[in-house]
Amino acid sequence: MKVIILGSGTSQGVPIVGCKCAACTSTNPKDKRLRVSAYIEAEIPKENDKYLRLLIDTSPDFRQQMLINNVVDIDAILFTHYHIDHIMGLDDIRQINQLHKKTVDVYANGETLERIKQTFSYIFDKNTYRGGGIPKINVKEIGLDKFSISGVEITPIEYRHGPATVYGFRIGDFAYMTDCNKIPEKEYEKLKNLKVLVLDALRYRPHPTHFSIDEAIEASQKIGAAQTYFTHITHDVIHDKANQRLPKGIELAYDRLAFEI
Ligand SMILES: [Zn+2]
Ligand SMILES: [Zn+2]
Ligand SMILES: [Zn+2]
Repeated sequence: MKVIILGSGTSQGVPIVGCKCAACTSTNPKDKRLRVSAYIEAEIPKENDKYLRLLIDTSPDFRQQMLINNVVDIDAILFTHYHIDHIMGLDDIRQINQLHKKTVDVYANGETLERIKQTFSYIFDKNTYRGGGIPKINVKEIGLDKFSISGVEITPIEYRHGPATVYGFRIGDFAYMTDCNKIPEKEYEKLKNLKVLVLDALRYRPHPTHFSIDEAIEASQKIGAAQTYFTHITHDVIHDKANQRLPKGIELAYDRLAFEI
């Protein structure tokens, strides 16, 4: 499978509008962070050269992320939770509908789907005029049970994000866990023998709803993936400086980072 980090930034992105700090004024492309999202191509079992194209979250930067990374098709979207920085790009799925003449499947837990229905009420309102301007999606509610899409098995992982509950996803030897500040003990079972983990690490200072870098290092070492990338990074963090200080096997993610597993 192939993974592209479409965005590695916190909810406001980096640079933050009007901010003159060192990260926001950095010329290093790795300090330019769109809102968090990932694109995955997973091989469909028993079908040679056929890939399932998955998008994790539709960030407010979704359109730009598709253009920058030359992603032109999506089969299904997995939503981690309903916070605006993770859902706001959903309307732009219209271009996938039109380009490929298809409806896109959307997977999320009940609470996330409920909030998506409130935020994007026009998509679900039978009275909305459907003249091509409305996303075509099939919503599928998931729980904590494993599920599969075109034979690709996906395991939801449930964890805390302050008062909110978020789903991460394990696909093969890869797991993606953004917006996290506490992983329940029982969920560590699902995270054994990972080749790559993407995990939330907002900044150095503690935060009530996100792992700090030190907390994320502790959780990463407990999980023990061969390689861990930190994401959802704010402007307190300067890529090169912070990256040098991380233990072996842990690095900061950055926009357009791509890897194969
Ligand atoms: Zn977020
Ligand atoms: Zn700044
Ligand atoms: Zn969030």
